[in-house]
Amino acid sequence: MKISFPYMGTTILYKKLLEILGHEVIMPPRPTRKTFDLGVKYSPEFACFPLKVITGTYIEALEKGAEVLVTSGGHGPCRAGFYHEVHERVLKNIGYDNEIIVFDALKDNFFKVLSSFFKIKANNSFAKVKEAIKTVYKMSYSLDKLEKEVTKRRAYEVTKGEFTTAWRKIKELYDNKVFTSEDVEKVELEAYELLNSIKIKEIPEQEKIRIGIVGEIYVVMEPSVNMEIEETLNSLGVEVERSQYLSEWIEFTLVPSRYSKSHEYEILKKADKWLEIGIGGHAKQSVGFIVDFYDRGFDGIIQLMPFGCLPELVAQSIIPKMSNELGIPVLSLSIDEQIGNANVQTRLEAFLDLVKSIKFEKQNKSNIISLQDIINRNRIANRTKEGIL
Ligand code: SF4
Repeated sequence: MKISFPYMGTTILYKKLLEILGHEVIMPPRPTRKTFDLGVKYSPEFACFPLKVITGTYIEALEKGAEVLVTSGGHGPCRAGFYHEVHERVLKNIGYDNEIIVFDALKDNFFKVLSSFFKIKANNSFAKVKEAIKTVYKMSYSLDKLEKEVTKRRAYEVTKGEFTTAWRKIKELYDNKVFTSEDVEKVELEAYELLNSIKIKEIPEQEKIRIGIVGEIYVVMEPSVNMEIEETLNSLGVEVERSQYLSEWIEFTLVPSRYSKSHEYEILKKADKWLEIGIGGHAKQSVGFIVDFYDRGFDGIIQLMPFGCLPELVAQSIIPKMSNELGIPVLSLSIDEQIGNANVQTRLEAFLDLVKSIKFEKQNKSNIISLQDIINRNRIANRTKEGIL
């Protein structure tokens, strides 16, 4: 069976799982302008941006010969739960009558997950499936740990581009050398050797700037959709960490809560003061992670919200109050097919000026002023810089 899937984050994990189980994988192409255009053309106009990008990806994968598509499901008051029905209809309308296998959260739809599991299991023994899952589970943790190192150290690289090249090589290492769970440790050592061989600048701790990225899972995790925001921030000398990583998603969504080590339960508790109920998507996690990044001493937060995403829109409406009360600057960026690199770069540079001013003011406590004063002052400075004033 020729299988494909949406392109999101460390996509080699889905590929690896299916390959170990003996399926022929059709790698979906990395989303490009063509993917966005296809998605926008065939998806409902009011749909949220990730649905459109995934429509485009499915069409490209089917054009490459995929017969079956595998995806995750969703639940709660947001469109994620309807993605596969909408995608099925959209694809049918344009002549593709292919099956979409959906993996919902185990706790939400046990029997559906079971039926999807047996389709993917095919003729493999349970022991082989267990080993495949174990391998991919370990790989996800290992790759996420390494990616966090990359987005931290890349801010201080001496030669531009070295960490990006190393990260690409690391993913290739995992793709080419991991076949069993035991291979993961060996490859991880090799990956660390590669990272440790890259020279970085020594920066005093008090001068380092750390930014947390929160928001809807697809736009947070997929660099081709968020204009490579992590790499851009790193190139501006800033360390970055995201709210969403694949290993965390697996731990929270697929591992039964009794056995789960997920940090997300704690994050949801941190959000309770600001948002009592879950409103769909990862909105409550976005709010909780703002508090978490603040507690961990981060200097600023960026919220990524897809155009047409109601949960993140609600989170955005709470953010000004949180920002003022916690004293941490938050920038919200809306992501859709119209967004461009230059626009994002300018907004990030202006935001970082603000973040640095606040950090500087906080360090010089003799001259304490309010966050709002700093924001106003920076707004004037940036408008002056752009020649508006
Ligand atoms: S969280 Fe937002 S973007 Fe994601 S599926 Fe739900 S509505 Fe769409």
